[in-house]
Amino acid sequence: MPDGDAAMTFPELRARPLCPAGQALENEALFLAEVRAFLAKALTPDLREAGRRTLGVHSDIEACRIWQGRLHRQGWIAPAWPRAWGGAGWTARQRFLFDQECVRNDAPVLFAGGIRSLGPLLIEMGTAAQQARYLPAILKGDDLWCQGFSEPSAGSDLAAIATRAERQGDHYRVNGSKIWTTGAHHSNRMFAIVRTAQLEKRQQGLTFLLIDMDSPGLSVRPIPGLSGEHEFNAVYFDDVRVPVENRIGPENDGWTVAKRLMSLARANNTPAVLVAKALRRATLAIEAAGDGVEPHVRRRLAGLAIELEAFTRLELDALPSGRAQDSGDSRARATPSMMKLIGSELHQRIAELAMEAAGPAAAASLAVLGLDEPELDIAAMATARHFSVRAASVYSGTSETQRNLIAGQLLK
Ligand SMILES: Cc1cc2nc3c(=O)[nH]c(=O)nc-3n(C[C@H](O)[C@H](O)[C@H](O)COP(=O)(O)OP(=O)(O)OC[C@H]3O[C@@H](n4cnc5c(N)ncnc54)[C@H](O)[C@@H]3O)c2cc1C
Repeated sequence: MPDGDAAMTFPELRARPLCPAGQALENEALFLAEVRAFLAKALTPDLREAGRRTLGVHSDIEACRIWQGRLHRQGWIAPAWPRAWGGAGWTARQRFLFDQECVRNDAPVLFAGGIRSLGPLLIEMGTAAQQARYLPAILKGDDLWCQGFSEPSAGSDLAAIATRAERQGDHYRVNGSKIWTTGAHHSNRMFAIVRTAQLEKRQQGLTFLLIDMDSPGLSVRPIPGLSGEHEFNAVYFDDVRVPVENRIGPENDGWTVAKRLMSLARANNTPAVLVAKALRRATLAIEAAGDGVEPHVRRRLAGLAIELEAFTRLELDALPSGRAQDSGDSRARATPSMMKLIGSELHQRIAELAMEAAGPAAAASLAVLGLDEPELDIAAMATARHFSVRAASVYSGTSETQRNLIAGQLLK
């Protein structure tokens, strides 16, 4: 505790503002006490249940909206944004601790593309008009944003984007399609990269646009996931009008903008916490299976817990600046890919073990998902999560792509 704090009463300590942005966390216990007190009050049983029942990358959307509203009123909805923009201004360490407490308390997982990626990008690269229009709506949860990057022939090879935007006076006309768009059916806005020119290098000639999902000519079709959930979609553009003022960065330089967005999104993520959530669930599934669990399952669980500990250390080392990839050091630049690769594969092995622990019940369980049979329900959730987390080594860059990037950096 820093000098002087020892003499203060707890209410006095509580009344003091939390650590200002950018400073080291002076008193972790005080911060954690404040977070725990808030979560105990704000996380009602129905929200915790929604958090527990999360299968994919976000929780039930209504629970997300309620949870977003509570975090917003508390001033904690955007932990990484500077206070001047309505964020909490927390350090990376504070964000990690907060996320960890949220996991321990089964908080819903937010649908947070606006908070994690587009908001920080707008703060850095948006015009004053874009910042004024979009940032408050992201914080309040009035605007939900989906990401329109991938196309049927442009996934790992993103530079192959073919959706065209033609400039016509003060707007673009967009034609083409996007695929695997998570949450497009919940979103009222999309950030997208589209082709505005065919230039020598394919990365040139792309432009970053903000598109209203209710624009005439835009349609969304669901794609059912392996776990049975409707999370992603195909999105079609048929002469969709997008005002030029909705462009971020210069025309034909959308690649630079998209790269910056990805790097900000990674810096705002704490994947070790997500993996910890999976380990917690696996432990519960193994406990629920009781004596029926083979001894090797418990041994493997212990091994995975040790791996998670190492992964968490790696993340905490990489977090302090949140900008490791910006430094000149090739090892530091490879770190985000290492984190994605190790995190997603560890997550998958944990989910697989949880399903294995359910034994034969796992095979039958999908059919009874949602029924009031506690043991089968645990098995059903473990099975559905195993299927769902297969996607972790595909989205945000496949494992093969990450290995290529790591090799590219380290062998330079
Ligand atoms: C759950 C989920 C959510 C998603 N959400 C979104 C979203 O919201 N918005 C969005 O824009 N996209 C989203 N995506 C799409 C995701 O970004 C792409 O699936 C991913 O980039 C891979 O592209 P692809 O599916 O076209 O596979 P491909 O690029 O066709 O790859 C197929 C296989 O080939 C391998 N491969 C490809 N190129 C190479 C290479 N050079 N070297 C070695 N191996 C290679 C890949 O690793 C993969 O195993 C999501 C995907 C998933 C699974």
